[in-house]
Amino acid sequence: MSLTDYSRKRRFAKTPEPPPAEPAEQGNRFCVQRHHATRLHYDLRLEVGGVLKSWAVPKGPTLDPAEKRLAMMVEDHPYEYGSFEGTIPKGNYGAGSVMLWDRGTYELLGDLPAKQQLERGDFKFLLHGQKLQGEFAIVRMKNRGKGNEWLLLKKKDEAADPGWDAEQHSRSVLTGRTQEEIARNMPAAGTTHRAKRT
Ligand code: MN
Repeated sequence: MSLTDYSRKRRFAKTPEPPPAEPAEQGNRFCVQRHHATRLHYDLRLEVGGVLKSWAVPKGPTLDPAEKRLAMMVEDHPYEYGSFEGTIPKGNYGAGSVMLWDRGTYELLGDLPAKQQLERGDFKFLLHGQKLQGEFAIVRMKNRGKGNEWLLLKKKDEAADPGWDAEQHSRSVLTGRTQEEIARNMPAAGTTHRAKRT
């Protein structure tokens, strides 16, 4: 668990992303960010050992248990990244808009501590998010790529929802904004109108 790679890729005077910090107290937060970088993707982050273990999920997470979603493990992120939303300026690593798409807590499932489940490449967890709920597993694919290719799977349970599509749930859980509003650094459209009506 180290934030060395995270720091090496970023210049904190030039990006609004949080600088590295001491690992947080042990907790069990998770978040998903919708990141419109060169390619649109989602970033799943699970707190383990005070940092956020992170995977880029090109098609995003789903509640559909028939879908397997490719998830590329990326560098650990600092705990503070779990509340980040904003725009990474051009010329910086990951330049583009970042939406806090979901957040909440997770329960570790299975019989081993979190670090051991990651080491063996089979991590089982239950999400309590605003959008994502229920049991998931993220499993490392053997003999593929650089060893950073995993699959994100939804287990069959009461939260399973065949055909569920992340793109139909595409507003920020932090601000209610669309990706476009975040990219333009605007408030959520309609917030003032809504205030007038009530
Ligand atoms: Mn990303």
